[in-house]
Amino acid sequence: MIDLRSDTVTKPDDTMRRLMAEAIVGDDVYEEDPTVNELERYAAELLGKEAALFTTSGTQGNQAAVLTHTRPGQEIVMDNEAHVYIYEGAAISAFAGVQPRVLPHEAGVVDLDAMEAAIRPEDVHYPETGLIWLENTHNRGGGSVLPFSYLTGVRALADEYGIPVHMDGARLFNAAEATGRQPAAIAAFADSVQFCLSKGLGAPVGSMLAGTKEFIQTARKKRKMLGGGLRQAGVIAAPGLYALQERRGRLKEDHDHAKRLAHVIMNDTDLTIRHDVETNIIVADTDTSSRSAAEWVKALHEEGAAVIQYKPEAVRFTTNADVSPDDIDTVVSILQKLGADR
Ligand SMILES: *Cc1c(COP(=O)(O)O)cnc(C)c1O
Repeated sequence: MIDLRSDTVTKPDDTMRRLMAEAIVGDDVYEEDPTVNELERYAAELLGKEAALFTTSGTQGNQAAVLTHTRPGQEIVMDNEAHVYIYEGAAISAFAGVQPRVLPHEAGVVDLDAMEAAIRPEDVHYPETGLIWLENTHNRGGGSVLPFSYLTGVRALADEYGIPVHMDGARLFNAAEATGRQPAAIAAFADSVQFCLSKGLGAPVGSMLAGTKEFIQTARKKRKMLGGGLRQAGVIAAPGLYALQERRGRLKEDHDHAKRLAHVIMNDTDLTIRHDVETNIIVADTDTSSRSAAEWVKALHEEGAAVIQYKPEAVRFTTNADVSPDDIDTVVSILQKLGADR
């Protein structure tokens, strides 16, 4: 099966498994795990932040950030398809006691006037706006990259109103690859950034949260509250460090593969892609197709390719490290075959 359901499905390669076996470890709750410490140092440097924290997942990194930035009763301004809104079990409300203030978006971009209007003035009735949320690349938007002009605009608003910005950069390095910008140049617009080691970079476990020293010190405590204080975590940090150092460069391959698939989807099938394919995600709409989304998932599966139904009328293809150029050739043939016998 050629697995295009997500970029989280990749398995650690032999090098990663060897690094796990040989990792020098210590008790990370005492901050004595040299491998974790090196991963945190390297991640902070790469993002141009003072400090970083290893978390078990992107969700845990995002939630530690929310718990650190906000107080109960506050509100977070975000787009209405943000991962934190749709896919994190309402954890911001359940754990941090804050509510989302969601705004319509186009490829992750919210109208700046609408964002400004959503920032609460002081009033006895209102929640306070505690945080502005960005997602880069934007998952539901089709792996879309937030434009620099937008990041600049959001930062200016945040500074004007004195509100911190968190960037859910689960796929930050995909954004960096697609724009040719340094990761730190993108992270600079946010006070805190979360990115995943376990997606396009191909590590088996983990995410990083980066910010100021003071922010990370508090986030470390919040991570402990969330059950993320791990002991000899070097065994999982080692493949993460390797992924971060050695496998950022490979994301271009995923992007090229996605562009190739997108071309075939648009030209040889009755699916429609309504977003720019900039990175490794394709959201293909089925409203123009003789097959429903569920029928596409089934038909592709029968031919040997796994995708997910993503919306009532869309399927998602996500290229990843375990999908080779030959696999892409195979998927191209499958799509052409399914496109011809509709
Ligand atoms: C995957 C993802 C997360 C969460 O990561 P997990 O490691 O699955 O918890 C957060 N935000 C975005 C945009 C994601 O795609």
